[in-house]
Amino acid sequence: MVFVSMGFRFRVQAEAMNMVESWGNYTRHRIIPVIKRVRTKNGVIKYKVQYAPAVSGQSINYAFMKVLTNLAIERNLPVCDECKRYELIGGFPKRPEIEDNEEKKLINESFGYLKVEGKRVLECVVEDITGFMAVTETERGGKRRTKKEKNPEKETDRTEKGAGVKRTAKVWFSYLLPDPNSDFSVGPQFHVRFNRENPDEQAVIQVESGSAIYTLYTFIDVDGIGAYYERANDRYVLKYVNNRRERIKLVFDALMLTLSGLLGAKQSRYLSIRESLSGIAVVSKVPFMVSPVVFGYDYVQDTVDRAKIISKVIVETSTGTGSQQDASSESTTSVIKIFYYDREGIHPKESKPEKKESETYKEPIEINEVSGPEDMINKVKETVLNMLK
Ligand SMILES: [Zn+2]
Repeated sequence: MVFVSMGFRFRVQAEAMNMVESWGNYTRHRIIPVIKRVRTKNGVIKYKVQYAPAVSGQSINYAFMKVLTNLAIERNLPVCDECKRYELIGGFPKRPEIEDNEEKKLINESFGYLKVEGKRVLECVVEDITGFMAVTETERGGKRRTKKEKNPEKETDRTEKGAGVKRTAKVWFSYLLPDPNSDFSVGPQFHVRFNRENPDEQAVIQVESGSAIYTLYTFIDVDGIGAYYERANDRYVLKYVNNRRERIKLVFDALMLTLSGLLGAKQSRYLSIRESLSGIAVVSKVPFMVSPVVFGYDYVQDTVDRAKIISKVIVETSTGTGSQQDASSESTTSVIKIFYYDREGIHPKESKPEKKESETYKEPIEINEVSGPEDMINKVKETVLNMLK
């Protein structure tokens, strides 16, 4: 079992990465409530709702899928024709209807949904990695074009109605959300398109732009990448695609390019100015999320402390004892590996005894400092690939 979670902090200036609606010439930024912690004059802590600029996880995922698709095509990994055409279609519907004859046949067999999922995992890395949902025509409202009426003898059997196939994404994204412990702002910017010859054609445009310390989290279910079920000896067994390692590399490379490249919309006039501040990643054998990468505490230390407890529990459970000696036998293969970079003094250098401590006490945890987000994602990729050897 291999899981990866990461948290990133960026300082972003004057961005319009996720606009939700426009009223006439006014284009609004997506705003979302965040809970700020405030201390009153009496020293009492209170929590207050504030509205802050944000970029949806959907928008981040779209940027990731674009990079993933282009990279997969370059590397000759399988991508279905529809995902290849994402630019023409304007998105990734990912074959929402079961229309091809092979899938129609499969879906009506027993465990048809597993068979269709397996077929698509083999055919398309985008659908494998970012998930999909597909239904038969009749389920989608039932009224659609009704081929049955035209061809009553071809009326499909009842099992087709309502049949659907779903695959959960293997890479998850949070919203790009302001750090609630730092300041943020969103406001309209006034723009004019001049026309001296014909002033009537002059246009006033207002676009809301945001600036904030943004945080972003991602979770990767490495085990699920390239995994599907196949029938063997009357049982359904877990199988992996042949090019699984290539697909795992693709995920991390695409993530790296997404976060260091162009993220979000409106880049032609609001090319966002992004600076990486700090971040953390955890590679673990159990699902584990990094601590919130917000200002005001040492989130690296907090993640380490949590990881220590969890890794000890796992080792103790798997060895059936709580003693350090016994636990040490497991320490060669760390249960949890942590990577972080810090350009804002979150994790003071003098308080870094973790590596030594882990050697002394043989705790099944490993901590590595890296230079930045690209370095971190690359090292996580190497670690994951080593663990799967
Ligand atoms: Zn596809």
